[in-house]
Amino acid sequence: MFLKANTVTTDILIIGAGGAGLFAAIQAAEQDVEVLVTTKGPFGKDGAATWMAGWGFNAAVYEPDSPELHAQDTLRVGQGLNNEDLVIKLTANAPNVFECMRHWGVRYFRHEGMILQNHLPGHTYARTPRLARPAGMGGLEYRRVLPKQAKKRSNIKILDDFYILEILQKNSIVCGAVGFHLPTGEFQIIKAKVTVLAAGGMMGNYRFTSASPTLTGDGLAMAFRAGVELIDMEFADFYTNCVVWPPLMYGDLDWIANLRYDLRGIFYNKKGDEFLRRQKGSLISIPVAIQREIQENRGSPHGGVYLSFRHLPGNLIDDWFAEAGSLKWVERLYEFNIDIKRNAVEVAPAPLESLGGCRVNSDLETNIPGLLAAGEVAGGCEGAYTLAGNPICLYLTTGYLAGLKAANLARELPLLDFEREQGDEVVHEAMMVRERHGEERPISLRRELQELLDHCGHLLGRNEDSLTAGIKKVRELRERWNVVGLSYKMPRNNLEWLEALQLKNSLEITEVFLKAALSRKESRGLHYREDYPEPDPAWIKNIVLVRDAQGNIEVKIEPVHSKATGCGRGVEGVS
Ligand SMILES: Cc1cc2nc3c(=O)[nH]c(=O)nc-3n(C[C@H](O)[C@H](O)[C@H](O)COP(=O)(O)OP(=O)(O)OC[C@H]3O[C@@H](n4cnc5c(N)ncnc54)[C@H](O)[C@@H]3O)c2cc1C
Repeated sequence: MFLKANTVTTDILIIGAGGAGLFAAIQAAEQDVEVLVTTKGPFGKDGAATWMAGWGFNAAVYEPDSPELHAQDTLRVGQGLNNEDLVIKLTANAPNVFECMRHWGVRYFRHEGMILQNHLPGHTYARTPRLARPAGMGGLEYRRVLPKQAKKRSNIKILDDFYILEILQKNSIVCGAVGFHLPTGEFQIIKAKVTVLAAGGMMGNYRFTSASPTLTGDGLAMAFRAGVELIDMEFADFYTNCVVWPPLMYGDLDWIANLRYDLRGIFYNKKGDEFLRRQKGSLISIPVAIQREIQENRGSPHGGVYLSFRHLPGNLIDDWFAEAGSLKWVERLYEFNIDIKRNAVEVAPAPLESLGGCRVNSDLETNIPGLLAAGEVAGGCEGAYTLAGNPICLYLTTGYLAGLKAANLARELPLLDFEREQGDEVVHEAMMVRERHGEERPISLRRELQELLDHCGHLLGRNEDSLTAGIKKVRELRERWNVVGLSYKMPRNNLEWLEALQLKNSLEITEVFLKAALSRKESRGLHYREDYPEPDPAWIKNIVLVRDAQGNIEVKIEPVHSKATGCGRGVEGVS
């Protein structure tokens, strides 16, 4: 077969240009190596979760706080499942990353020479610097600074609107990747000494989500196909209060989170019941409790619950909005006849962030030589639950460290040629998807996948029967994916083609996620099993999933990697 793809070479290939990918690129470039960064959207304006983040970057920069305390808070909230060595290294390096950003011009609010810090729930001290942006729009500050810093460095090349299809290997060593340029449909092979996967999470697969629909789990799926071990895949973070009404604010979240945290908003169901009071002493988390009200028909008219601030003096609320620079929200609420001092907004939990991902060591190396993982695509940093505002900190720091490690490796490693057959196959399969005349439409399969996730991949609904049925259904959808047919067959700007390819990844990674959720027979973090509603100390174990030689999902149950257990690699159970 003739491979219709050009080849470029680089020292380091970085797949993904969100915060983790750009930090990796900049750090590596500082070490004088050639870097190529790819993103599936326009550079700096794609659907990267980093640009959507609301809070600043947690870092222990002022005494009496310390990186050790930050690590302790992270491990406590992670409920025993984090990779302890990794957490310690990340929290120790977070102040360096914070300093880089400050030096590059990320702006913060100050008072008497000190950067103001928010004290988010779960933190021993206030350690979230307040970005000089309206509340909830911190990600825009990262977007203003990080892409500009990457562009400044002549040894960073950028390939945007470029969709990576697959990681390439030679004798089980990663030696680059293959993808295509969306505007032209031209394939390209990128040969690299080291590849850093920083392609973000899979939260875009849900129907109602706070994340961008472009976050379809491509990186996780391609890593899994390449033989990378995935860890903690059953855990996801859900945003507690995504505004579902008024509709203009659909999906807009962080201003309301700031408001709720700062002013202690109260949730009500449609009966006027302050239902969280009933939860006191219960292990059920707030998002799960809210979802239960919605599912048991006690929610608000637009599919949420009410969030009210009426218990507070009106001028206190006015002052908060003025200080947070968020007055535009007050105006928007008025357009819908909502005066936040008297009326509630309607909110519902929405998927936010994948906690699981590629198992990495504290140098961010995966089990496959030549491949590092950074950012949300990496697992083990957060364990079972997220410490408020921690993802940006942990993930950008993984990027920083992965960049340094990749540069060191690139100096030692040769540039390998990939296995031609693998490259040919990937290009051929992607082209064939475009040519097919099958009956199935990608958009219909996508809708069925979303329904499936609502049913058994959400906060509620996980039990033995639903998860087993969910896995069966996702396998059926994967079969049907083989006969998708596209209405538009040209290679240029073919978004239906892109969607078909993304869907393949979404389906594959959903099966892995459901398998992990089925395997964990307890409730922990936001993994709530209706048939095992309590946490079980015997389950302080990581679930590790890997593709076996036949392409099946192998599930391994392993001791957690901690200082006490050492490398934590002993396999305790395999199903
Ligand atoms: C709405 C929202 C608000 C949030 N708020 C906060 C917050 O306040 N604080 C906090 O700590 N965390 C927050 N998070 C979580 C945090 O923003 C993310 O976990 C973090 O930014 C992930 O960074 P990343 O670089 O790993 O991935 P991303 O920033 O998502 O970047 C992924 C990159 O990979 C690229 N990519 C994906 N697939 C491919 C492919 N096949 N080929 C090429 N490129 C590809 C994408 O184009 C993108 O450039 C929030 C998340 C969301 C969705």
